[in-house]
Amino acid sequence: MSLIKSSLLNTYKRLPVSFDKGEGVWLVDKFGNKYLDGLSGVAVNTLGHNHPILVKAISKQAAKLIHISNYYHIEEQSMLADALVGISKLSSVFFCNSGCEANEAAIKLARLHGHKIGIDTPNIIVMEGGFHGRTMGTLSASGGRKYQAGFEPLMPGFIRVPYDDMAALKKIADKKNKISAILIEPIQGEGGVNIPDNFNEYLSSLRGICDDNNWLLMLDEVQCGIGRTGKWFAHQHSEIKPDVMTLAKGLASGVPIGACVANDKVSSLMAPGKHGSTFGGNPLACVAGLTTLEIIKKEGLISNATVQGNLIYKELSLRIGKHPGVKSIRHMGLMIGIELSIPCVDLINIALDDKLLINVTADNVVRLLPPLVIKKEEAMLLVDKLTDLILNFLEKNDK
Ligand SMILES: *Cc1c(COP(=O)(O)O)cnc(C)c1O
Repeated sequence: MSLIKSSLLNTYKRLPVSFDKGEGVWLVDKFGNKYLDGLSGVAVNTLGHNHPILVKAISKQAAKLIHISNYYHIEEQSMLADALVGISKLSSVFFCNSGCEANEAAIKLARLHGHKIGIDTPNIIVMEGGFHGRTMGTLSASGGRKYQAGFEPLMPGFIRVPYDDMAALKKIADKKNKISAILIEPIQGEGGVNIPDNFNEYLSSLRGICDDNNWLLMLDEVQCGIGRTGKWFAHQHSEIKPDVMTLAKGLASGVPIGACVANDKVSSLMAPGKHGSTFGGNPLACVAGLTTLEIIKKEGLISNATVQGNLIYKELSLRIGKHPGVKSIRHMGLMIGIELSIPCVDLINIALDDKLLINVTADNVVRLLPPLVIKKEEAMLLVDKLTDLILNFLEKNDK
């Protein structure tokens, strides 16, 4: 069986498996083999696969109305905006279809803000190791040459500093740098599940420097938002609120959606005609988003993310934490990274053979992003499988 489809543009290195259906944290391939999903389509399938209430809600909406232009009032869109404003305590929402688009909206808001405060060519501070998407704007904002190489000229207007390093940031906080905003992931996902050493202190310092200089604090919560870290939004583990927050991945449990959420000050920068999206905020995606938020609440999935995340972390720490080949284990809720001392991309295939889906990012960090519906027995199975895989891998590679 060849899975190579020559009519597809060669953008992904695909694994030799094809899934047919799913149920909760389980995926089933065409031959009936069951796989434990420790990745959720990269933090997308918040409710796992085939959640009956979500499936029913989407089906019902599809039979009524799938798409209608933003020329018209869309009730489901307003309801989802209200729900996001309610849980974020921000003011207004723009809907699009993906994370990069949500960040594009944020970048445009930062430009508007810059012009409003008298900067003709405003810059946005971004982080080394950051990831914001693949559009020209967002890949220019991302912090790895890996994403940018070959696509020059990049979009100007970004100044990069090391992550979790206030001293470096303070050094460039100068009028001559024409800064209007900071764009940052509270936890870096693609960069290797990097969590600031002192989360509250770092975010509070970022808030402080933005307030002092009239910059916008824009948090990319595309990966860490929507309950994954044990709060609705990762920044809610700190005392601060951002001016802008972007969401996508887990927001509608697999139906494409993105959202740029802004506070009052930023909302007032926008006016009809300045931004838009054909598909953004269509009734189908918004019902999927609303239903996702409802089920998260009803099934207590935010506290489940804390409980299962802590369990996985504790068990992994106990079993492999002291191994010399394991540099560190990091987590906040169900966003988990295991940094090894050697590159471990091969573990993805090895795990696949063992019917486990994981990811490796930043070359040597095993990344786990299981669905928020994961149960204790499933979390323990994940730990059992992964422990064996990592120990065998380290042994084979003489570590
Ligand atoms: C995945 C991701 C994006 C890009 O989202 P797309 O939907 O792929 O455009 C942006 N920011 C972060 C933090 C992400 O993890």
